[in-house]
Amino acid sequence: MMTASNIFAKTDNYLRDTALSFKSLNLVFKYPLGTVKHFTIKGNGMVKHVYDIENAALPNTKNIAHYKAKGVQAFRMAQYNKRILRVVIEATAYMRGDFKVTGRKLTLFLPFSKVTKNKKKSRVDLAYGYNAKRKYHTIILDAGHGGRDVGASSKFVREKDLTLSMTLKLKNILQKMGYKVLLTRSRDKFMNLKQRTDYVYNRKGSIFVSIHANAAPRKKTKGVRYEGLEVFYLSLKNSKRIRKKRVVYRGKKVYSKSAYRKMVGRWKLRESGKLARAIHRNVLSHVSKQYTIHDKGIKRKDFWVLVSTKIPSVLVETGYLTNKTEVKKLKNSNYQINLMEGVAKGINRYYGLY
Ligand SMILES: [Zn+2]
Repeated sequence: MMTASNIFAKTDNYLRDTALSFKSLNLVFKYPLGTVKHFTIKGNGMVKHVYDIENAALPNTKNIAHYKAKGVQAFRMAQYNKRILRVVIEATAYMRGDFKVTGRKLTLFLPFSKVTKNKKKSRVDLAYGYNAKRKYHTIILDAGHGGRDVGASSKFVREKDLTLSMTLKLKNILQKMGYKVLLTRSRDKFMNLKQRTDYVYNRKGSIFVSIHANAAPRKKTKGVRYEGLEVFYLSLKNSKRIRKKRVVYRGKKVYSKSAYRKMVGRWKLRESGKLARAIHRNVLSHVSKQYTIHDKGIKRKDFWVLVSTKIPSVLVETGYLTNKTEVKKLKNSNYQINLMEGVAKGINRYYGLY
C-alpha cells in the first residue's frame, strides 16, 4: 500500500514541520491544504488509519517513523503518487480518526484524545478503552442456530455461519473492553433451545444477548420492507407459549403471565427493555457512520430464549440475508465488526460504563 517515496511530487507544497503531542500528530505544510481523505483498514488486532493529503509533497528529510504514542503501533508516511502524500497511523487502541485542517496545519487526533466537537458522542466512543469495572459483568452471548440447525438461509449464506462469525467478533470486542464473556457455542455445534437456556440458567451471567439474522418469508406482506436491524425483548402480551403452557422455567411449567412474573420478577422485563433500547440506538448510530442501515425498530416477542432466562435478555436480528444488498454487507467482516461494536457500545451504555 505504501509506495516508495522516490515518486516525484508534482506540487511544491512541501511538508515543512512535524510534531507529536500526547493527543495528536501535527503536520505543517508550506501552503494551505486542500482535501484530506481518511479511511481505515482493519486486521491483525489493529486498525490502520490512512490519511491521503491532496496536493502535498514529502521532502526526503522528513520522517515520522520514530514517533511513539500510546495505542499506536507505527507511524508511516510516503509520497503515494504525484499529488498525494499518505500518512498511516496503525492504532492498537480505539481511535476515531478525527482530523482538523487549519490553513497550513493538519492535526491528526490519536487514541485517547478527547478532542471532539460533540461531547456526548466522544463519551461513547471512548468506550473502546479498557475499564476495570467491566470485569464484574459477565455477558453471555448466543450465536443463533448451529450444526444441523442452519437457521435462515438464502443462496448467499447460512444464518448459523453469520451468527457465529459475528458473535466471536463481539466476544473479542467485549473482552478487550474488560467484560467477562461466555458463549453458548463457539463452533458449528447443534444446540436445542433448552440446552441454550439451561446453559444461561446454570451460569452466573449478568445479561444475555442472542445474535441472529433474518429472512423474508416466502409469502411476503405487501408494504413490508424485509431489510434492516430489529432488536427484540420479551413481551408476555398475547403469548401463545404461556397460554399453551409451553413455558418451563426453573423446571416448572408456567401457567399464566402472573405466575411467570412472580417467578422471574418484573426486574428482568424492565431491564431487558432498557438493554434492548441501548443496543438498538447504539448499533444504528455507530453503523450509520460508515454504512446505510435500515431501522426496523425495537420489537417485543416471547421467543423461547427470551422467556427462559432469568437475566435481562435481548435478541438482535442483525439484518436480512434474503436482501441482496444487505447480505453483501452482512458477509463483510468490516460490517460485522461495525455491528458488533454498536452492540458493545449499547452494553456500555446499559451499564453506564464508558
Ligand atoms: Zn435465527
